Amino acid sequence: MDLSLVDIIKTSIRERGFMTTADYMALCLGHPKHGYYMTRDPFGVNGDFVTAPEISQMFGEMIGLWCADLWIKMGRPTPFALVELGPGRGTLMEDVLRTTRAMEGFHATKQLYLMEMSPVLQSAQRQKLAGYNPEWIVDIAQIPEGMPVIIVANEFLDALPVRQMLRENNRWYERVLVLDKNDTLGFAKKEADLRMVEGLPPQITGAREDGLFEMSPVLNHVVKSVGILLQKQKGVALFLDYGHAKSAYGETLQAVKNHEYVPIFDTPGMADLTAHVDFENLGKIAQGQGMAVHGPTTQGAFLKELGIEVRAERLKAHATQDQRADLDSGLKRLIDTDQMGTLFKVLALCDDPNMEIAGFHDRLS
Ligand code: SAH
Repeated sequence: MDLSLVDIIKTSIRERGFMTTADYMALCLGHPKHGYYMTRDPFGVNGDFVTAPEISQMFGEMIGLWCADLWIKMGRPTPFALVELGPGRGTLMEDVLRTTRAMEGFHATKQLYLMEMSPVLQSAQRQKLAGYNPEWIVDIAQIPEGMPVIIVANEFLDALPVRQMLRENNRWYERVLVLDKNDTLGFAKKEADLRMVEGLPPQITGAREDGLFEMSPVLNHVVKSVGILLQKQKGVALFLDYGHAKSAYGETLQAVKNHEYVPIFDTPGMADLTAHVDFENLGKIAQGQGMAVHGPTTQGAFLKELGIEVRAERLKAHATQDQRADLDSGLKRLIDTDQMGTLFKVLALCDDPNMEIAGFHDRLS
C-alpha cells in the first residue's frame, strides 16, 4: 500500500508516542517520495517563495566578486573546490561563475561541488550549470583531500530541522507532535532529554524567564563539518540566511505556501518549512574549532559594502526603462531594511585569522 506522508507521520507517532519537530521537518522536506524539496521546484512567482538570487542577478554577482577576491587573497590555489550547499535552481552559482569568468585562472582551476538532496533541483542545476562540469555530493567530507575550499550557502541552513525546547516554571520540556483523540496532529510537551538541555547556551539556561528555544543538531553538525574541512584544507565559508544575531527565545518554525504563511500541520510535504538561523550559535561553534568568524552583519550592509549600488547604476546605464525599474526594485528588495536587508544576516568563517574578508565592516555586536 502506498502511504501518504500524513499516514507515515501518524504511524510513526503511534509507534513511538510522539515525533520531534525536527523529525517532522526532516520528513516534510526530505522524505524521498513525498518531501517538499524532493518533488518540486518551489521557487518563483508561480512557486511558494522567492530567494535573493532569484530576485536579481546582482546578488550572485556580488558573491562572485567576493569569491574571486578571496581566491586571490588565498594565493590563487590550484586546484580549488568551489562548493555550494543547497543550490536551488543553480541561479546563484551561475551568476557567480559568469562574474568570475574574466578572472584569469579562476575557471580553469575550480572544481565545482554541489550538495543538493533534491533530484528535481539537481536536474535544474545540471541544466543550468552544464558548461561547468559540476559534481554532486551528499556530504562535505567528500570534497577531495588537499583542495582549498570556497563554500557558499544561501537559505540552506534555514531548511535544516530544529527541535523546540520549552522552559516552563524553570523546568525543561521538549515540544513534540502527538495525535489527539480525533487522530489529528497537534503539539504536546514531554520531559526534555538532559543531553539536549546541556547543549543549550548558558544565557538561555541561565535566564530567569520561561520560553521556547529552537536548536538544530543537524545544523550544528553541518557547521562542525565545515569547520573541520576548512581547518584541514584551508578556505572560507559564507552563510546567508534569515535569522538572529544573538541566541534568544522565540518560535520561528514556519510553513510557507504560495507566498503565504500556513499552519505547519495543514499540508505536510506541500509547504516549505523553515526556522530562523541562530547566528551566535553558528559563530560559537566555529570559534570553538579555532575558526576566525566574520559577522554576522546584515545582508544590506554586506551587499552595499561589496558595491551593489554601484553595480545597479552601471547596469541601469545600458538598460531599457522597464529593466531600470526591475533593477531598482530588485536592489530595494535585497538591501532595504523593511525588505531582506536587515532580517537576512551574513556570516563568514575562515581558517586563517589574518585573512581580510570583504563585507563585514558593519558587524552586529
Ligand atoms: N540557495 C538557493 C535555494 C535555497 S532553498 C537559493 O538561494 O535560491 C534550500 C535548498 O537547500 C534547496 O536546494 C534544497 O533542496 C536544499 N536542501 C535542503 N536541505 C538539504 C539537505 N539536508 N541536504 C542537501 N540539500 C538540502
